Amino acid sequence: MTDEFVRALVVESDLVVGVATTTGVCARAQRQHDLAATSAVALGRLMTGTVLTGLLPQSGAAVSLQILTNGRIRQVFADITDSGHVRGYIRPPDLGIPPLSETQRLGRRTLAHAMGDGILSMIRTADADPCVQSSIELLTGEIDEDLEDFFGRSDQVASAVALDVLLDADDRVRVAGGVLVQAQPSADLQRLEATRAAIADGGFAEMLAETSDARELLRRLFATAKEIDATPLEWKCRCSQERVVTSLRVIEVSELAEMVAKGDEVEVTCDFCAAEYKVTPREIEEVYTAIIKAQV
Ligand SMILES: [Zn+2]
Repeated sequence: MTDEFVRALVVESDLVVGVATTTGVCARAQRQHDLAATSAVALGRLMTGTVLTGLLPQSGAAVSLQILTNGRIRQVFADITDSGHVRGYIRPPDLGIPPLSETQRLGRRTLAHAMGDGILSMIRTADADPCVQSSIELLTGEIDEDLEDFFGRSDQVASAVALDVLLDADDRVRVAGGVLVQAQPSADLQRLEATRAAIADGGFAEMLAETSDARELLRRLFATAKEIDATPLEWKCRCSQERVVTSLRVIEVSELAEMVAKGDEVEVTCDFCAAEYKVTPREIEEVYTAIIKAQV
């Protein structure tokens, strides 16, 4: 079954709902980065959260989420375009903490103990507008609980979020998906609370274990939900020679000047897809010259 995002309205409760199935995207990420269990679950949850955050508001903005922590998972990053192209990476990729209990082996795994203290940041970039970044401290490190806290505190939108990646006995991604429910101005907040209770603490993971069909998940959550639209999801990297050269602009000018003086070719590897690029001395010099001109 292909991955997709389905947006729906629960009219009588004034709730907007996004359901995403991301098994293919998460399995692809596991193969791409050779992820061990804990890393696969953490990156999968963040990628699924990025899908829901990016596609639910219909804003046309690209969204990226990043978590930086002082724990064993140091960094998780994921982004999505408005056309449903998702990608991400995690450091370290090879973290495989054994499940805390036998029921966790195939069910919802705990991430908090791998995270420590950290920051969740969200960047929204629309074509016409400059990017908007907001950050909060992690609430628990489970990612879905942190994202729910982010919507409440940073966006001031009452929300319920569940994200999960279930593994098989060989620690490979078996099924993945998530749900984001957000209150509209005259929402039935009791219903939102009841939904939060139903999907929290592994409730959504149990649903995922039974079905990986986005519309079936939606029906189980809200029998009366009306689908608005759907977006197919795909793991896709957007790196290119041009973007790699552009990314040199964030390097300190003094360092760029040194690179120009050395006159060597620079090799850059894409964090997302491991594609390798060679930046020529001439391209480095052009970036350097453009920055110097802009400063005058
Ligand atoms: Zn790439």
